[in-house]
Amino acid sequence: MTMPSIPVIPHMIVAMLAGSLLVAPAAHTQQASQTDSVSVRPSHYWRDVAAGFASSLLAHEVAHVATALALGAHPTFGFDKGRPTVYSGIDAQRDPHKQFLFSSMGLNVQAALDEGVLDVPHERGSPFERGVLVSGIATALFYVTIGRSASVSDVDFMARTSSLSRTDIGLIYGGVALLHTVRVSHDSRYADFFVHPAPAGERGLRLGLHLDR
Ligand SMILES: [Zn+2]
Repeated sequence: MTMPSIPVIPHMIVAMLAGSLLVAPAAHTQQASQTDSVSVRPSHYWRDVAAGFASSLLAHEVAHVATALALGAHPTFGFDKGRPTVYSGIDAQRDPHKQFLFSSMGLNVQAALDEGVLDVPHERGSPFERGVLVSGIATALFYVTIGRSASVSDVDFMARTSSLSRTDIGLIYGGVALLHTVRVSHDSRYADFFVHPAPAGERGLRLGLHLDR
């Protein structure tokens, strides 16, 4: 381990995964709007969801860079095997604690953003904040599942620079994401956030976002 690095690519995968979750209900929304005049999807809806999603990912990357700077390191951008990468500039063997802070801060900030959206009193349910919530939850779930073992992933670096195992870290961030998911699913203002019964005549559930306004 020489230059600690944080890949940007996994976040693109997160975006694609979440995107595939978000696409399904769009068809349903269009279908519903034909039969139900209450279901109207404003033209800016998906743009605002995407903006919220991207803002949360941007906050994740900015948190890595800001943490490195705050710790006196000199973060740089480059490519690792062709993948766009943020290098912390921290010597992970000499300063494992600093590297741990650097690696954890992206997910910490996204979790804090979601916590803020769910805790701070305001008018809830806007498409932008739905995008923020999906982004935070999807990134955490990505890192505690398929992204946990990637050699330069945030979770792998946290495990290598602390006494926590990748499973411990997965339980911590996965638990927080699960808690946020439960809170969203119990808040009527985020109705149909993740799961929605399929329209009459179809079997199963639809995954993703659906706006009722
Ligand atoms: Zn990261």
